[in-house]
Amino acid sequence: MNASPWQGEFDVALHAVRAGAVLARDIRQHVGDRGLLKADQSPVTVADFAVQALVAHRLGEVFPEDPLVAEEDAAALRGPDGRTMLQLVQAALRHFAPELDPSRVLDMIDRGRGVPGERFWTLDPVDGTQGFVRGDQYVVALALIVRGRVEIGLIGCPELVFTDEPGAPAGSIAFATRDRGAFRTPLTGGEMTRLHVSSCLDPRLARVLRSFEAQHIDLDTFNGIVSALRVESPAALMDSQAKHVVLAAGRADLLIRVPATKSFRDKIWDQAAGSLIIEEAGGRVTDLHGTRLDFGTGRLMTRNEGMIASNGLLHAALLDACRGVLMEP
Ligand code: AMP
Ligand code: MG
Repeated sequence: MNASPWQGEFDVALHAVRAGAVLARDIRQHVGDRGLLKADQSPVTVADFAVQALVAHRLGEVFPEDPLVAEEDAAALRGPDGRTMLQLVQAALRHFAPELDPSRVLDMIDRGRGVPGERFWTLDPVDGTQGFVRGDQYVVALALIVRGRVEIGLIGCPELVFTDEPGAPAGSIAFATRDRGAFRTPLTGGEMTRLHVSSCLDPRLARVLRSFEAQHIDLDTFNGIVSALRVESPAALMDSQAKHVVLAAGRADLLIRVPATKSFRDKIWDQAAGSLIIEEAGGRVTDLHGTRLDFGTGRLMTRNEGMIASNGLLHAALLDACRGVLMEP
């Protein structure tokens, strides 16, 4: 196979995500879930800010012209109320980027205000902040988008365990480059293992994934879809794009995300990396209506309602179930 056209980008992104995920795990262990509430009342922690600063810094050193479109901005850290938080963020970064003084930390976080263009990166520094706070799953998600399509996706998963062996260590990075398959590697380095979706053909036996946070989804519609498929086992509840990685690894068969309201639109960083990893592992990803995900519409995925993903084999049945339930009055 020819060398990937994105090898240079991929190498930089893998190092950045690895550093970001190790940093998030360190903060979880040593600083905890200190944070503040955003305008929409969702939490943002030291880890969200510190990981965004670190990944923005690493990408910006090599690709200064590429816009970064990321979840956080530094507004809350710039005023007097944010001083303590900024100090914690800079302290957390000391081992990873000692060259960043407080003013550069702010600037690095605000690199994430980039405008999506023909080619850009999109980052969720801590996807699943609520999982991070609770002590459950959260991930660092980074993707390169070119002309509205994801070309590279990486998900650093500090808390994900891939085997049922007791005592198996947590921590992996899942990644994919377009047309070159999906893989995982231990968080701290090591061998690459190819990711493959499951071979489940019977919807009744499907292992289903959904958001942990019930307020992120329309639970009635979700339950309707699962009943229409006659799925026998209860869904597994998990935060973040850790779900996408579990599906890509063949450890679940369906992922269903029905937004709480019809008008809700996902942010690109909540789906970009995960969708490429699922597709490159052999799965399928669409919205609730079967439309492919479009990452060329700015920060919000305005052309897609919700998202569903499968091992591919179950996608037609899943789409039928969605159509049936969504058409009910
Ligand atoms: P999940 O854990 O799969 O629900 O995904 C977490 C992501 O959901 C976060 O990164 C948020 O961007 C996004 N999110 C936040 N609020 C909502 C909401 N009300 N409905 C749907 N998604 C949300
Ligand atoms: Mg997020």
